[in-house]
Amino acid sequence: MTNNCQVVWENCLHIIKRSVPPQSYQTWFEPIQPVKLENSVLTIAVPNKLFYEWLEENFVQILRNTIFQVLGKDGRLRYCILNNGAVPKPNASNNGAAESLAPSESPMVPGTFDIEKIKDPRIIPGIRRDKVVSNLNANYTFETFIEGDCNRLARNAGLAVAKKPGGTAFNPLFIFGDVGLGKTHLAQAIGNQIVQQFPDKLVLYVSAEEFTNQIIQAIKKNDVNAFVNFYQALDVLIMDDIQFLSGKQKTQEIFFFLFNQLHQSGRQIILTSDRAPRDLEGIEDRLISRFRWGLSADLHAPDLETRMAILSAKLERAGVKASQDVLEYICYNIKDNVRDLEGIMATLLAQATLMRREIDLELAKKAILNFVKSPSRGITMEAIQNLVAEHFNVPVKTLSQEGRKRNLVVPRHIAIYLCKQLTDHSLKAIGKAFGGRDHSTILYSCRTVQDMIDTDPTFRANVEELEKKVKMSLSH
Ligand code: ADP
Ligand code: MG
Repeated sequence: MTNNCQVVWENCLHIIKRSVPPQSYQTWFEPIQPVKLENSVLTIAVPNKLFYEWLEENFVQILRNTIFQVLGKDGRLRYCILNNGAVPKPNASNNGAAESLAPSESPMVPGTFDIEKIKDPRIIPGIRRDKVVSNLNANYTFETFIEGDCNRLARNAGLAVAKKPGGTAFNPLFIFGDVGLGKTHLAQAIGNQIVQQFPDKLVLYVSAEEFTNQIIQAIKKNDVNAFVNFYQALDVLIMDDIQFLSGKQKTQEIFFFLFNQLHQSGRQIILTSDRAPRDLEGIEDRLISRFRWGLSADLHAPDLETRMAILSAKLERAGVKASQDVLEYICYNIKDNVRDLEGIMATLLAQATLMRREIDLELAKKAILNFVKSPSRGITMEAIQNLVAEHFNVPVKTLSQEGRKRNLVVPRHIAIYLCKQLTDHSLKAIGKAFGGRDHSTILYSCRTVQDMIDTDPTFRANVEELEKKVKMSLSH
C-alpha cells in the first residue's frame, strides 16, 4: 500500500514538475510526503498549515488536474499536517479535491518526519525557545526616545502596541520616514518593552535584508520548513526597512504567507519603511494592501526644540555637560537628521576628551564643519538681505535705497545689524552692500538695533527669530 501511494505520488510529481517553476517545485513539493492511498484518495503530509494554505492558494488547479490524470475522475487528495496545531478547515472552493484530516485521524508515518520536532510549533528544530535571540538593542527604549510633534503619533501607537501586542487595531504597525529619524529606534523600543513586560512572548527583530538572506540560506539548505516554522512561532515580528523586499518576489511570497499566518492568529507585526505603503515600488499589491490594515504612522524631521531635547538627553546620558549656546548652535545647524546630531556629539566628546577641554562654542563650530556644508561662516550679505526683505515683506532693493519710511527703515537697520553680527565683513564693505553708505551710518544702524533689542523684548524676539532663520537657511 505504502509503495503504491509512493508510486502514485511520484507520478504526480512528474506532472507537477513540468508545470511549476523549479524553485517553487523544490520549496513546496519536494517536502511533501505521500502517506496512504485508499479508494482513489491520496493522502499527503505537509509540514504545517502554511504549506497547506500555500498549496491551496497557488497550486490547487495543478494539483487537481494532476490527481485526475493519475487517479482518474474519482481521484481525491487529502492533506494531513504533521503538527498538532490547528488543522485547516476544508476549503470550500476546491470541489472536494483537497480535504484535510482531523488530528486524530492523521495517519503518521514514523520516520517520514521528525514528528517530535514539529509537533509544537514553538519548539523549533535546533533552537530552544529560551535560546531564541530577539536581536534587540537594549539601548533603544522608549525612555531614550524623545517625544516631539514629529513623532507623537508613531510613538504613542508604539506604546499602545507594546502594552497589548496583537491586541490593538494597530496591526500591523507601519512606521515610515526618512533615514535617521528614529524608525529603528522606535521599532526596537516596542520590542524591548514587550520583552520586559511579557517575558514569555517570543519577539524577533529582523531587517528585511537579513530576512531575505535567511530565506536564501534556507532554500539552499533545503530547510524552508524550519525557517517557516520558526517565524510562525513568533508572537511579535519586527521587520525593519521593508522597502528592501522590493523586487524580491520569492521573499515577498514567503513573507506574505507568514504575514497572514501571524496576523490571523493575533500576533503583532511591526514594520518600518523609508516611504509610505502606497509609495513602495516593486512590492506586490496584496502585500501593500495588508500593510494598510493597521496603522501607518510617519516620523518627521524633529523641530528645533525636539532636536535640542534629544541632544541634551544624549549628552546627559554620556555624562557630559554643554552650555545652552552650544546646544542651540548645533541644533540650528543640524536639521533633518537625528543621526547627524549623534555624529556631532561623538566628535565633540572625542575632541573634548583628547584636548582635555570643555565643550564650548568654538569646539562645536569646528565639529560641525564635518557635517554641514556651510555653517554660519558661509552666510552672505545677499542672503541676509533676501531673508530680511522676505520676512518684512518689502522689496529687497529698498534695503539699499534712501527712503525714510519707518516700514523700510527698520528692515534696513536690522539687515545691516545682522550682516555685522553674522558675517566677517567690515563696516565699509557692509556700507557698500547697502547702497554705498559710509561706515558711520552702518555703525548707527547697528547701535539703533542694539538699543531696541535692549529695551524692547518683542523687537528682540523678532531679531532673534530672523537670526535663527538666517542660520538655519544657510546650514545646507
Ligand atoms: P532610522 O532607522 O529611521 O534611519 P534610527 O532609528 O537608526 O533611524 O535613528 C538614528 C539615530 O537617531 C539613532 O541612534 C536614534 O537613537 C536616534 N534618534 C532618532 N530619533 C530619536 C528620538 N526621538 N529620541 C532620541 N533619539 C533618537
Ligand atoms: Mg533604521
